[in-house]
Amino acid sequence: MPAIDPTQTVTLAGAGLVGSLLAMFLARRGFQVEVLERRADMRKEQGSAGRSINLAISARGLHALRQVGLEQEALRHAIPMQGRMIHPLSGELSLQPYGKDDSQHINSISRAWLNKSLMTHAEETGRVAIRFKQRIQHADFDTGTLTVLDEPSGTSREVRTAVLLGTDGSGSAVRQEMMRLPGYHSTQEPLGHGYKELTIPAGQGGTFRMEKNALHIWPRGAFMLIALPNEDGSFTCTLFLPFEGPVSFASLDSPGKVQAFFEEQFPDAVPLLPELTQDFFHNPTGTMVTVKSAPWHVGGRALVLGDAAHAIVPFFGQGMNCGFEDCVELDACLKRHRTWEDAFEEFFGLRKTNADAIADMAVENFTEMSSSTASARFLLEKQVEKALLNAFPGQFLSRYSLVSFSRAPYRLAYEAGTRAGGIVSELAEGLSRVEDVDMERAARLIQERLVPFMKEH
Ligand code: FAD
Repeated sequence: MPAIDPTQTVTLAGAGLVGSLLAMFLARRGFQVEVLERRADMRKEQGSAGRSINLAISARGLHALRQVGLEQEALRHAIPMQGRMIHPLSGELSLQPYGKDDSQHINSISRAWLNKSLMTHAEETGRVAIRFKQRIQHADFDTGTLTVLDEPSGTSREVRTAVLLGTDGSGSAVRQEMMRLPGYHSTQEPLGHGYKELTIPAGQGGTFRMEKNALHIWPRGAFMLIALPNEDGSFTCTLFLPFEGPVSFASLDSPGKVQAFFEEQFPDAVPLLPELTQDFFHNPTGTMVTVKSAPWHVGGRALVLGDAAHAIVPFFGQGMNCGFEDCVELDACLKRHRTWEDAFEEFFGLRKTNADAIADMAVENFTEMSSSTASARFLLEKQVEKALLNAFPGQFLSRYSLVSFSRAPYRLAYEAGTRAGGIVSELAEGLSRVEDVDMERAARLIQERLVPFMKEH
């Protein structure tokens, strides 16, 4: 079994969020890292027609950035979001806090800024070379040979590598190569919904035209609109809508229909979206997929991680956070083991069940975001949850807080969160005000059902 040799060059497929961060971790361990990236260098060539797209970063992602000294810099460019601002079809806006108080929040950060910053910091280690417009077409794990298309010249070349780490995203070429091998399997569950990004520009002087410190949601059941704030005062909106059906991307086939749909469903957003129909027909419709695969590695020669191993739908805001946590865990495995194979084996054992758990929670959260957030019952349950988080610190933990504000394994968050959710539902049953919650009963239920479970795990 080939031993881990820090003088080796490690090859990464993909300089996205996970690949760029992983390159930094590997450089810290003393490896030379060559990263082959299909796209052009986004620091030099602007893609996506200059759209600013953001994502939510929370405890797990921030912890990973802290390990490489980048957390504070990232937070300076991030906007805290303390809760969900619900925009009902009619009536008042309401803020549903995410945590027990404002200290528990998630953060909106620009995807492009973060990716560029990670690439630059990786290169600054002096050990990382990122080669752009290099598409991996084929991998031969027996000989350690990659076939790489140099896009500017249109010619393919062979690259030899001792170790290949596939961080090439949900459509991973490295994973697809693995799937040709006996004993490997992968499922791809596409969501019947697509998504479209739209922009709410900043107001005069870079002001925010809605509440800045919130993730805005227009929950409408089978579809929804969300908006996250950007540093420059704008918001990136994402419309999640079925591909087909009576209300779908297929049915919204003219500017008039899009305008009418927004005026009917999201009336308060329409005045904030001056380029609505242009954006709608100009911006691509994205697809979302859950990828579950195993066993992620070929001996000690190759491993996939991040979306390449376990892409998830975006409704828990955890895909990148989970991929960043992969980097921390792989780094720890490399420290503990002498061979790549042992490190990869342990990594898969540690991460697979957790990746599956967050994949399932992310799918479930679509219903929570698009439907439940609009119901009075859900609102009351959220208030009860917050009251319990404050009254029983360290004993009561909600699924959301375990996923977003802790680094507890996702599997534990799933199981403990389900128990906690059951307690909240029972306590809220038949009530109309959070003040009426029976706290003695709450204490008893938490002691009986949650505390022993948390002690055991
Ligand atoms: P990617 O970011 O996809 O990067 C893969 C890289 O590999 C790319 O640079 C690509 O060009 C390159 N590549 C691909 N194929 C090849 C090849 N053959 N050869 C060479 N290079 C290749 N996550 C969160 O944590 N919070 C959020 O709020 C959040 N919101 C989201 C919203 C939406 C609408 C979507 C779709 C996702 C969201 N995610 C979120 C998930 C997050 O975007 C992904 O989990 C994250 O980008 C995964 O990073 P990655 O590096 O594994 O893959």
